[in-house]
Amino acid sequence: MDRSRRDAIEDLLRRIWVEKESGNSFSCGESPASGNFSDDELIEELKNKNLVSRDGDVEKLTPKGEEKASNIVRRLRLAERLYSDLLQGEDEDSSAKFACRFEHILNDEVTDSVCTLLGHPPTCPHGKRIPRGSCCQRSEKELHSLVKPLTDFAPGAKARIVFISPSFHNRLDRLNSFGVLPGAEISLHQKKPTFVIRLGATEIALEKEVAGEIFAIGIN
Ligand SMILES: [Zn+2]
Ligand SMILES: [Zn+2]
Repeated sequence: MDRSRRDAIEDLLRRIWVEKESGNSFSCGESPASGNFSDDELIEELKNKNLVSRDGDVEKLTPKGEEKASNIVRRLRLAERLYSDLLQGEDEDSSAKFACRFEHILNDEVTDSVCTLLGHPPTCPHGKRIPRGSCCQRSEKELHSLVKPLTDFAPGAKARIVFISPSFHNRLDRLNSFGVLPGAEISLHQKKPTFVIRLGATEIALEKEVAGEIFAIGIN
């Protein structure tokens, strides 16, 4: 298949996926045709490849088509992020051009590297969701095993607070007033008889329940 035809196929898959995301169904002919190829012609090809099937009078992605299309959207939105975050591009027009060229070039491996480089961003610069890749799931798992409640650390451990999920909001205010905030470095002074952490020169006693709501990552 020549390049431009492959690109047109990918564009069409992406358009069907995006229509579904925005709650619309895709019917042939409503959107501009992809370059030199008519939608009808491309849809036929997608059907032959079992990427699209007809449901009443709308075209739906098959599970195989869904997977392929979400990868295409992922590449496009990551390319947008790459352009705006890393290359500091602000011009909408050249950003779109860059992303459109780039989305067809990236293979899965490079896509995951770009995603990792950008810190697995959840959304594109327009606020649209970036479909997750295998790299994101891996990183969530790794992060998950590293971030744990203060109650899981041993006395003497140093940790950086990542997030706090208090059951009561005024608790958060009280913790904030002590400087117990995401990003703060603390050390665990003792767990018994009371739970005590050190933050700089300050010792702060916490109820065990509260300590269990502060999530941190160990540092050396
Ligand atoms: Zn976007
Ligand atoms: Zn990722």
